[in-house]
Amino acid sequence: AKAEGGRGRWARYDPERAAREATSTALAAALPAALSRDEFVVEYQPIVSLGSGTIRAVEALIRWQHPTLGLLSPDQFIGLAEETGLIVRLGQWVLERSCVEAGRWHKEFPRARLMVSVNLSPRQVSDPEIVDQVAGALRASGLPPDLLQLELTESAVMATGGEPVRALRKLADTGVRLAIDDFGTGYSNLAYLRQLPLHTLKLAGPFVDGMRAQDPASVVAERIVDALVRLAHAIGLSVTAESVETAEQAEGLTALGCDCGQGRYFGTPVEASAIAALLRAAETPL
Ligand code: C2E
Ligand code: MG
Ligand code: MG
Ligand code: MG
Repeated sequence: AKAEGGRGRWARYDPERAAREATSTALAAALPAALSRDEFVVEYQPIVSLGSGTIRAVEALIRWQHPTLGLLSPDQFIGLAEETGLIVRLGQWVLERSCVEAGRWHKEFPRARLMVSVNLSPRQVSDPEIVDQVAGALRASGLPPDLLQLELTESAVMATGGEPVRALRKLADTGVRLAIDDFGTGYSNLAYLRQLPLHTLKLAGPFVDGMRAQDPASVVAERIVDALVRLAHAIGLSVTAESVETAEQAEGLTALGCDCGQGRYFGTPVEASAIAALLRAAETPL
């Protein structure tokens, strides 16, 4: 086999790669038991309005508290769950858990109108059961539909059997909001954009990352962000910038009219109780 990243050299045996593959196979096999043993946790990352600085939403991000390997990030297992098909059950678990938490926040802090944003993988989006799962999670939690946002990647949209408009229309009819995640990194089919029942574009991290003071290349990055924000607004979509890490980036994005920001600058993903504490602090007059 060709060694990964080996600049075209051919290797008979790559021990590092073999170890990686063995780990992946073991992790994939361990996923179903991990779900029944309740080893997954959901963290929530603030999404902040750039104009007012208030917290508008949180994105639900899954982690795996593995008994021996420690806390695993979704990049280490979501792809495996997608391949084995377990993502449908795992994703439903995240959806239900997130709606229950958001339902509690809404009950305790109704004026915050905090939205929860849940990632859906391609398999989930093309599963006909998804509409019932979403409706069921809303009903069971009492969360108002407009406080749930579903994040779909461009590849998830394209995986809907060539009928993305119809598939997403059914989802949107439940009253939830739909967002395109990592916009600009995938197969950006601009022709579909205007037909899909979308609410938000999430501008991919690399665009924001390109916005750095002192860097001449930053001018180009800013022009691209400027153009994408105008495009989104022109077709009635709101824009959330991902991976906002610095004050300069937050200021630059605000100046370009970007609606919301998410990233280390505003806060890393945290457990549900920390979000409740944030909401409590925001309610308390200084
Ligand atoms: P995503 O949906 O684009 O989520 C944003 C990722 O950016 C998260 O990584 C988040 O922790 C990270 N991030 C936050 N702030 C910053 C920052 O300031 N700089 C940078 N560079 N990154 C930041 P995370 O939690 O490791 O998740 C990775 C991906 O895994 C997610 O990307 C999403 O595609 C997927 N994922 C996470 N949870 C789920 C889930 O429940 N279901 C599905 N299907 N996918 C999920
Ligand atoms: Mg996301
Ligand atoms: Mg994203
Ligand atoms: Mg991503």
